[in-house]
This record gives sequence, C-alpha cells and structure tokens, in this order.
Amino acid sequence: MRKSYSQLLKDIEGGEIISIILIPNRREVIVEFRSGEKDVIPIFYNDQKILRISEEYKVPLTVRDPRSEQRLTNLLTGLGLSLIFVLSLSFLIRRSSKLINSMQSFVRRSSEVKQDEISRITFDDVAGLNEETEELKEIVTFLKSPKILIDLGAITPKGVLLVGPPGTGKTLLARAIAGEANVPFFSISASEFVEMFVGVGAGRVRDLFKSAKAKSPCIVFIDEIDSIGRQRGTGIGGGNDEREQTLNQLLTEMDGFATNSGVIVIAATNRPDVLDLALTRPGRFDRRIDISLPDRNARYKILSVHARTKPLSDSVKLNEWAIKTPGFSGADLQNLLNEAAIYAARKNKSTISSSEIEKALEKTRFGLMSKPISDYTKKRQIAYQIIGKTLVALLIPSQDKLDKISLFKSIGDISGMTYFTPDEETIDSGLITRSYIYNKIVISLGARAAETIVFGFNEVTQGSQKDLENVYFWSNQMVTKFGFSPLGPIAYETSDSIFLGRRIMQNKQDYSQKTSKEIDKQIISIANKGINHAIKLLSDKVELMDLLVNELIDKETLDAKYIIDKLENFTNSRC
Ligand code: ATP
Repeated sequence: MRKSYSQLLKDIEGGEIISIILIPNRREVIVEFRSGEKDVIPIFYNDQKILRISEEYKVPLTVRDPRSEQRLTNLLTGLGLSLIFVLSLSFLIRRSSKLINSMQSFVRRSSEVKQDEISRITFDDVAGLNEETEELKEIVTFLKSPKILIDLGAITPKGVLLVGPPGTGKTLLARAIAGEANVPFFSISASEFVEMFVGVGAGRVRDLFKSAKAKSPCIVFIDEIDSIGRQRGTGIGGGNDEREQTLNQLLTEMDGFATNSGVIVIAATNRPDVLDLALTRPGRFDRRIDISLPDRNARYKILSVHARTKPLSDSVKLNEWAIKTPGFSGADLQNLLNEAAIYAARKNKSTISSSEIEKALEKTRFGLMSKPISDYTKKRQIAYQIIGKTLVALLIPSQDKLDKISLFKSIGDISGMTYFTPDEETIDSGLITRSYIYNKIVISLGARAAETIVFGFNEVTQGSQKDLENVYFWSNQMVTKFGFSPLGPIAYETSDSIFLGRRIMQNKQDYSQKTSKEIDKQIISIANKGINHAIKLLSDKVELMDLLVNELIDKETLDAKYIIDKLENFTNSRC
C-alpha cells in the first residue's frame, strides 16, 4: 500500500528505510524498507526536504534520471525499427530479384528447344501411309545426300504441312523422315510458343531456328501449327498480339534461311482451313500432304505393326478387327491393342485373345462402362428406349451395322448402349446422302417414339437427350449447310464461322431475320417428321418390344443376330 509523504519522513527519521531512489522529473521516490518491502511515494517539486533529511539520517539517496533511460530505450527502439526496415527491404529485394531471376530463367528455359532423343523411327513403323511416305522420300534423299538434288538444280521445299485428323500419324511420319535420313529432329508444339509473357513466343521461334541451323541438316517439327498460325486479325478486337508476333517471327525465320540450307520445317495441323495464307504461300509451307483416317486395309496394317510387340492368341484375326473399327485412327488402333494387353494382364493371361480386344473396343468407343441401374421401373423405361431405337434402326434402310445392345451404360450417361459399326464406305468417301442423314434422325428418335407409344406423351423421359442433340445437329446441317431442305440448295452457314471476331467486327450477317425464322421452321419440321416416322414404324410392334424388353432386362446384353431373328419371326407371323 502506498505510504503518505509525512509517513515517509517519519520512517526516515525512525531508521525504517535503508535506501531511497529519487526520480525528480516524475516527482517520486522509490524507497526500500528494512523489512525488504519497496514503495513508490510522491514528493514535491524541487523537494529539498527529502534531501536534507536523508542526508541527516544517513539514508543512501541516489538520483535517477529516467530521461537518459528513455533515450536509451528510444535509441534501442529506433535501432530495432531500422533493423526491421533494413531486413524487410533486403528480403523484398531478394524476393523480387529471385522472381526476376526465375522469370529470366523461365524465358531462357522456355526458349530452349531440345533435340529429340527418343528411339529411331523409320518408315517401317508407319503403316498404311504408302502414298504419303512416297511423297516424303524426296525429302529424305535431300537430307541424306543433298548434293545429288542440288547438282540437278532441284529446290527442296522449306516447309511441309501435314494435314489430318488427330492420331493419324503426322508426328510419327515426321519422326520417320528424320529417322530414315538419320538427322536430328527438333520438335515443339506451337501452343508452347505462346506464353503469358509478351515476346517469349517470338524469342522461342528465334531460338528454335538458331538451334536447328546449328545442327543442319535436320527436321524441325511444329505440331498444332494452327494454334499460332491462325489468320491474323480475326479475334474479337483485332486478335491476340502475342500469337500474331510469334507467327510473324515464324514467317520471318522461314524467309531468312536460304534455299537448300538443310533445315526442313514440318508442321502438322487438323485445321488447315484456319491457317493464315502467308503460311501456305510458296517458299513457306508450300508442300501439303493430306493424311486421312485409315481405310480397312490400312487399319489391318497398323494393327499388324502394333501387334509385333504383343503376343496375340492364334484365334485372333486382325483383319476382322480392321473391319470392326471404321473411323479409328492409328492412335486409336494402337490404344485398342494396348488396352487389350492390359485386360489380358489383369487376367494373368500370357496371350491376348479376342474377348480382351472386344472389351478394349467397347472401352475405346464408349469409355468406361458401369452396371445398369437397379431400379426395375427405370430399367424397364431405359430398355424400351434401347429396343425402340434398335427396331427403328433395323426397320429403316441404314448403312450403319447393328452389333449389339446393352443395358450397361457409359459413365456419366443415363441410358444403355446401342452399338452400331459405322458404314465403311460412307466414312471413306466422306459423302453422305440426304436419305442417310434423314434416316439417322429417325433412328435417333426411336427411343422417344417407343416411350411415347408405351408410356404416353406425358410420361416420356429425358433419357434420350443425347439422341435429341443429334437430331438438332443433323437437321441443322441439312438446312443450313447441305441444302437439303425446301429452303433451297444453299449453304447458309459457311465454315469460317470459327472466325467469330472478324464476323462481329465486320458486322457480317449471312442471312435475313426472315430466313433465320424459316431455317428454325425447317429444322423443327424435319424433327417432327422424324418422330412421326419412328412412331409409325413402331406402333404395330408393341408386342415385339415387350418381348425384347423382358429379354434385355433378363440378359442385360443382346446380340444383333438375336434381335434380327426375333424381328423376322414377328414380321412373318403377321403376314
Ligand atoms: P495429333 O494430331 O493428335 O498430334 P498425330 O497425327 O501427330 O496426332 P501421332 O502422334 O503421329 O498422331 O500418332 C500417335 C500414335 O498412333 C503413334 O505414336 C503411333 O503409335 C500410332 N499411329 C498413328 N498412325 C499410325 C500409322 N500409320 N502406323 C502406325 N502407327 C500409327
């Protein structure tokens, strides 16, 4: 407890206090009692009395100036703060210099284009592309022994453009050229050119060509050239500066190296229609080689190449699998055998049999499959959808061949599967007739038609949504692109609709609002005609549908032959 001033004087006189510390500017003393206690007691300003009395009673008195302590504290605090400031500043400088370093090394790293070190590939590894390889042999000759061609005054192309759908072997072919000629192969994907830092892409192009020239003769392979080689000025608001700068740099580099310099640039794309004309003009990518999806014979050859490293059981006939895989690319076929090998390994088998290839084919075509839903009512509804679509496909002239149907569904899908093998000739020729498309629409509406007949208009489900999307796709193409509608033989939509930016900037309208309404009317009319057609085909087949639905629910998968036989019996019994 704090003592009073008068009590303090008394305690000094009474010898109770052993020391006093005077703090003048705070006007207080800290006293220490004989008992060991300490107390802080206020005193008067400029108090002389306390000095006198403590001297008189011989109590040691020290004067403490807290300002000097304060100064020391201030000094220390100041020093501490400056230290913190200096430390944080150096931390920030270190961090930003690290960032700059990493950006620089990123730019440097990203500019580095390495020579491909993967194992040598030759034309023997490329199957079913005989004409294409023949065309490219001249380049191999030039790379191997340029003198022969140069002496004859021949000029080899600076750039070769390989055009074709994904997985058709464009990269493989480019690698095989390098492999045959035994020259370095520099490969880069064009999308790697374009980075978040402006100017990096152009720098990379420069570096790529610098490395290539140093290793001449060599092949420079640019995959997905369309990602930088799109026509310039077509984006919304003008375009992508970085991409265009990169493309300009590529054009400059290609102009820069001399004819017969030994560097051959091979670019690949599956969108030749979007390429800038400057890229394809003579002196740049002036040689174009189109690679299409392999036909039956080519598929057989590709399967044979990939089967070289896989132990197939004797019963596997690769030509049968070539028949079953129209529309498959080389990459798909490679994947097919690979998946089959994985299935065989899972079963601890030493060879791959047809059943593994069959399973792999399903997975390649439809992705992973999951079990049918267990709810009986919903399963029944799905079974009617599948049977409806299947019967329509069998009742209408269709080039696509029915393989089987199944209640198993692909992951993420609601309904089961109707397996068709697409018509080989249609795929190969790329020509599709008006009736082929219309029949496709009617087949797509088979599921909806069956539901309408069996469950009634209000009880149909959205289970066939994917089919309905196809209906829109095909009827839209019929009207707007193929001239297959009463609106006349006119393609209202052109394929440059990908250049949305340019169209918007030019405010280009292909047709009037009145025509647009007519187009909608025609699309709806085709869909309605299709559903009526499908309903008509199925309306007298309800008994057959019931029978097949029960069979499907029971067995979960039915073969095409089984369904065709049942349909034939049913038709004959009605005659
Ligand atoms: P993308 O356009 O997607 O880049 P791509 O046309 O370049 O595809 P590749 O990468 O060359 O296709 O092919 C992928 C794989 O498919 C190859 O590694 C090869 O195993 C196989 N393949 C494709 N075509 C053939 C073929 N004609 N002969 C043998 N194998 C092929």
